[in-house]
Amino acid sequence: MERKLAEHQIVLLGVGHTNSHVLRMWKMAPLANAQLTCVSNFSIVTYSGMLPGVLAGQYDRERMEIDLVRLAAAAKARLITAPVTGLDIGGGRLHLEGRPPLPFDVLSIGIGSRPAAPGIDLENPHLVSIKPMQTFLGRLERAARRLPAEGRAVRVAIVGGGLGGVEVACCLPARLAIWLPKGSCEITLINARQQAAPGVSASTARRIQTTLSRLSVRQMLDSRVADVSGGQLTFASGETESFDLILWATSATAPPLLGELGLPTDDGGFLLTQDTLLVKHPDQPPIFAVGDSGAIAGAELPKAGVYAVRQGPVLWSNIEHLLAGRPPQPYRPQRRFLKLVNTGDGRAIAEYGSFSMRGRSLWKLKDYIDSKFMRMYQDYAPAMNAIEPSRPPEDERSSGGHDGMFCTGCGGKVGGDVLHRVLQRLDLAGNEHVVLGLDAADDVAVVRSTGGRPLAVTVDFFTLPLDDPVLSGRLAALNAVSDVFAAGGAPHTALCSAIIPRGDGEAQEEFLYQLLWGALHEFEKIGVSLVGGHTIEGVDAALGFTVMADAPDELRTKGKLRAGDRLVLTKPLGVGILLAAHMRGECRAAWMDRLLPVLLQSNETPARILADHDTSGVTDVTGFGLIGHLIEMLKGSGLAAQLALSRLPLLDGVSELVAAGWESTMAPANRHVESFVRATADAREHPAYSGLFDPQTSGGLLIGVAESAVDGFVDELLSNGVSANEIGQVIEGDTVYVEIVDEIVDA
Ligand SMILES: Cc1cc2nc3c(=O)[nH]c(=O)nc-3n(C[C@H](O)[C@H](O)[C@H](O)COP(=O)(O)OP(=O)(O)OC[C@H]3O[C@@H](n4cnc5c(N)ncnc54)[C@H](O)[C@@H]3O)c2cc1C
Repeated sequence: MERKLAEHQIVLLGVGHTNSHVLRMWKMAPLANAQLTCVSNFSIVTYSGMLPGVLAGQYDRERMEIDLVRLAAAAKARLITAPVTGLDIGGGRLHLEGRPPLPFDVLSIGIGSRPAAPGIDLENPHLVSIKPMQTFLGRLERAARRLPAEGRAVRVAIVGGGLGGVEVACCLPARLAIWLPKGSCEITLINARQQAAPGVSASTARRIQTTLSRLSVRQMLDSRVADVSGGQLTFASGETESFDLILWATSATAPPLLGELGLPTDDGGFLLTQDTLLVKHPDQPPIFAVGDSGAIAGAELPKAGVYAVRQGPVLWSNIEHLLAGRPPQPYRPQRRFLKLVNTGDGRAIAEYGSFSMRGRSLWKLKDYIDSKFMRMYQDYAPAMNAIEPSRPPEDERSSGGHDGMFCTGCGGKVGGDVLHRVLQRLDLAGNEHVVLGLDAADDVAVVRSTGGRPLAVTVDFFTLPLDDPVLSGRLAALNAVSDVFAAGGAPHTALCSAIIPRGDGEAQEEFLYQLLWGALHEFEKIGVSLVGGHTIEGVDAALGFTVMADAPDELRTKGKLRAGDRLVLTKPLGVGILLAAHMRGECRAAWMDRLLPVLLQSNETPARILADHDTSGVTDVTGFGLIGHLIEMLKGSGLAAQLALSRLPLLDGVSELVAAGWESTMAPANRHVESFVRATADAREHPAYSGLFDPQTSGGLLIGVAESAVDGFVDELLSNGVSANEIGQVIEGDTVYVEIVDEIVDA
């Protein structure tokens, strides 16, 4: 994926209303010789302006969400979703949990704000905070569905009576009506100030009051909440009142992280900047603080999305200026802006300067502005210049090499048939050191030094499957060591082979460091030491390991299946399809969120557990897909198998992507074994059928288990957090074949 390493590292911390502009511009016109990395606490971001509309049922939830996985992939930017633990200002490094420090030449901090809640337990199950907004609807639904159906109206408090709180009060009843179909709700809007939505003009305030009264929203003004216990609010006056549900939408305060970065802050804890949005700090790489997180010295701007949005183009241009050695330009905040308040009934209240109005056309205007804004960020198609050499026609959805993009990870393997033919043409002579060699078609070799113990050895190597070198390094290690675990070996040492793209020495050093840091992160957990390797420069980055292990007394091999064994698979299929889609910005954040933990799951645990059960042949499923690896097992065992498609686990999103025509570039080569498959025309149309040929990077284990032992084995895997599915059985056959069946019926 990396063709030439960039010299300049631009890092966005938090991708909100301002920083997302940089990501969008990057997709259209990336800066030369620079790498953009986004660090976010979620893989989606939300647009607050549309949240009330989502509550009111005017929009689907997706309308307010930007899918960062897709946008970053389309922009060829890196996305890291790891918590930030600190900042090395002088060294220009951001510290992240579970990862090496991330170097930057330019950093833009835009992690927004959070509702003020001094001393309040936001984990209280009666209380739902508006932030993080990404999880707000889920938390709200869970809390609402927990409410007892007592035949009375549900009492809801909204603490915080700014414009956001007013909108939520207007729009919430429609949402609660979905979740509480039998009950009505009574909304109380609580504000520490003497007026709801302070800061608006008198005529806007009147319109807001009329709307709230019409909706029977009760108001408690001049009422500061001092404590929350269960559903009971205690006010600063000492009075108490109980509610069934409490929404927390108080005014914006600084996230604690801002105060932990060692940068100058204002009295409220927001990062103090100059009018260029740059944090004032001597002797440091440039650090911007934008949106709610920043506070321009002397400007006193309210925390509002309109300012954050307008800062986006200034930030982008200032990053460009700095990299070009030009001085940054000031941001000039607008003195007035159009406020549009969604009242949830198809109308909105508008205020601009002294002008104030309420009506349907104003809701239409708000809808038009917000929808237009979001469309710009929900366009996940890679820019024309991001694909080399040319973009395929719209209807060619597979990444099948039409445009020079080939699958990476184990999807970048040379086809099994090619390998087979080459090995047949070569004269492969063994010697006295070879215990298990190429004639066995297993994934590990076993060799013995003169007079020594047998050593199990395996090698795996791939072009990097992900943009992120740390994650790719982890995957390379997990993938390489998996063969040894499948064979029952005890890995101890590894040698690395790496191809690093061209670039200056510093960039190459950092890239290789991050790759190997990731690999060592996994190797250390299993006691494997890196003892050597070889690194060369090349066009596409690649990494692999030769892993050495003590061979067990009896090696577990593929060819030991027994007729009657059940087949158990430990990870869901579809990695290759998802990674192919990801290369074109088509893998959704929710799918990637589910994929990554599966990829990063080691096969050590299932390999350890299977030793205690009546198991037979074992292999790990990688580049040749489930079917290719199963056929290798069956050839070695002289048997056939049945697979129940309905039992084949697929990763989230795979069915949709298969239906849309996606497959890995390696899938056609993997289909060369289709002649061994007996399946009806209907079965061949099933999405899981495509999953059979899909190359897996860091795939699961495929294990033959005695029928009498299979339930206990699967239960033990599941109770150890390993996904496990009984997917078929081994049968006697006149020849080697795989029959696709509806269900497993005792042979
Ligand atoms: C209900 C509601 C309605 C609103 N409506 C409007 C409106 O109509 N008009 C208006 O002008 N303003 C509105 N606002 C205010 C507006 O939402 C904010 O001013 C705006 O979101 C600020 O943008 P930002 O980029 O600073 O932060 P955000 O848009 O909040 O983005 C910050 C991002 O950083 C991420 N993040 C947070 N912490 C971390 C971390 N530690 N590491 C990595 N990432 C992190 C967050 O997940 C988020 O994606 C509303 C606010 C609310 C609560």
